[in-house]
Amino acid sequence: MGDIIHLLPDNVANQIAAGEVIQRPASVVKELLENAIDAGATQITLSVKDAGKTLIQVSDNGKGMSDSDARMSFERHATSKISTADELFDLHTKGFRGEALASIASIAHVELKTKREEDELGSCIEIEGSKVISQEPIATSNGTTFSVKNLFFNVPARRQFLKSDSVENKHIIEEFIRVALPHFNIEMRLIQNDQETYHLPSGNLKQRVVNIFGRAYNERLVPIDEDTSIVELKGFVGKPENAKKTRGEQYLFVNDRYIKSTYLNHAVKGAFDDLISSDQFPSYFLFMQVDPKSIDVNIHPTKTEVKFEEERSIYAIIKSAVRNSLGKYNVVPTLDFEQEASFNQFIDPNKEVVQPEIKVNPDYNPFKTDSQRSKPGTHQPSTSMKPNTDQWESLYEVAKNTEETIIQTAFDEKDFTHDKRPFLQLNDKYVLGSIRSGYMVIDQYRAHYRILFDTFLKQINHRNGQSQGLIFPETVELNANDFKQINVIEDELESLGFRFTKEDNTLQVTAKPSELADCDSQALIEDLLEEFKLDVSRESTSPAESLAKSMASKAAVRKGKKLTDHEMNDLVDRLFECGEPNFAPNGKKVMITITFDELEKLFG
Ligand code: ADP
Ligand code: MG
Repeated sequence: MGDIIHLLPDNVANQIAAGEVIQRPASVVKELLENAIDAGATQITLSVKDAGKTLIQVSDNGKGMSDSDARMSFERHATSKISTADELFDLHTKGFRGEALASIASIAHVELKTKREEDELGSCIEIEGSKVISQEPIATSNGTTFSVKNLFFNVPARRQFLKSDSVENKHIIEEFIRVALPHFNIEMRLIQNDQETYHLPSGNLKQRVVNIFGRAYNERLVPIDEDTSIVELKGFVGKPENAKKTRGEQYLFVNDRYIKSTYLNHAVKGAFDDLISSDQFPSYFLFMQVDPKSIDVNIHPTKTEVKFEEERSIYAIIKSAVRNSLGKYNVVPTLDFEQEASFNQFIDPNKEVVQPEIKVNPDYNPFKTDSQRSKPGTHQPSTSMKPNTDQWESLYEVAKNTEETIIQTAFDEKDFTHDKRPFLQLNDKYVLGSIRSGYMVIDQYRAHYRILFDTFLKQINHRNGQSQGLIFPETVELNANDFKQINVIEDELESLGFRFTKEDNTLQVTAKPSELADCDSQALIEDLLEEFKLDVSRESTSPAESLAKSMASKAAVRKGKKLTDHEMNDLVDRLFECGEPNFAPNGKKVMITITFDELEKLFG
């Protein structure tokens, strides 16, 4: 038998490389935007159709290419950015592997139009699946336009595995943002299906953040600025009170390149430790400048993973810098955290330490009945609780009338009917009641959460949420993406009692659900959207359910709230009117039971 090893033809080799570099339309977006930046563009327009499945086009006013460079750019390992291996460790550009264009051209229909300033005419090249279809001179403006059509036309398996347009669009927007954030001095546009969704004029970093994420960010950012011999760290973190439930806005860059790093992400999160709860994510936009020689970018084909020489020091610097800034801007009391000596200069000794404002309303009692509610303007988040006279009587009714529910629930509710002793509140968190066979302990927050969820869901379904008009409309500013989401949940918002007008990424709220009348509209709508996005990404619930969930969790009585006997009675009464009293809408247990048998066993 003769030799069996042969070299793969170029087009096959390119397709294999494409498998690593180009996973979805957003990968093309990333590569083309980076090339435009490397070409020194000051204006870049990204235009996509059908989430990039039909067209991805990037136009720049950068330096353009000569005729022969234009042709060469599609060859594998063709790059103008490095020429020796040494330069791999001194990178000042985004690209260097010279495989993006070759890869893209092997799996799509690509048209390139490009012209240098010094040339009279530019050139236009068409390539389909690595085959050059045509190359001719054309009259065109300075700069480069790549049009990538019919991505994966010859890789059906890939095409088939693309997600819905909305998912692919999200990835595209994400890549656009990752490039746009560090390059705030470049004017950038995103056009989706002929509609301009982002127009980011050139400006400073803060303006860029605000232009991308919405004007509300003007008040939310704490600046970070730390210069050490290892790293220069700049950027912003979001205030702890604006932390999100989805990972959302977490951006880390090294030398203007977006990177993923669980390790450094942990450093930022660590700085927020006792300021946010464990299920929240702080926002951050952090930019590290390091000596290019101290990092290795060439460890992953998409260049989003980077190896640092001094990762542990950088970890410590990030954590302290963020912590110190939160302190310096009085977001946390400065006494509260350990300072590293080298960062003391960042704390202004002349500045008075202001205790953070604790936003707790001592009058907040969601169980007050209407007649008990005295002070207008205090928090009244609960649904109207009926005044209670003889709750045990109605508990009988519930137990008698809902045989089916009794079967579903975790323990035998008939137990109640034999005990009329009052409830006891434990640790301001739990309600203890006796049942025939032992005791039950109810988590007061989760019970109220369940009750309100059922109430809100009913309101949405029957379109009868109580609306409270506002004397002065409240403005809610959203980013372009969230603003679009509002269209999806508009009906549900109205059924809950919201009234608003929409214009220019802004809502003017004229009425709110009366249960949430005292909540700040901006925070309220953002939280609702947040919850909605979270649920949609889990693809588990309807918009109605996720809204009801979000509102209920906001309005439910917190742990640590003292309850009167009446309130406890009412809570239990209403809990057992719910279809599923055993579990809160987040799936957590509402109550546990301890039988006398179990008690006896505990005593051994
Ligand atoms: P890399 O960016 O790693 O060098 P690419 O395949 O992305 O590899 O691009 C190959 C080459 O094509 C680049 O090195 C650059 O010289 C040229 N090029 C690509 N895009 C542009 C552009 N928008 N303007 C000018 N030159 C470009
Ligand atoms: Mg490139």
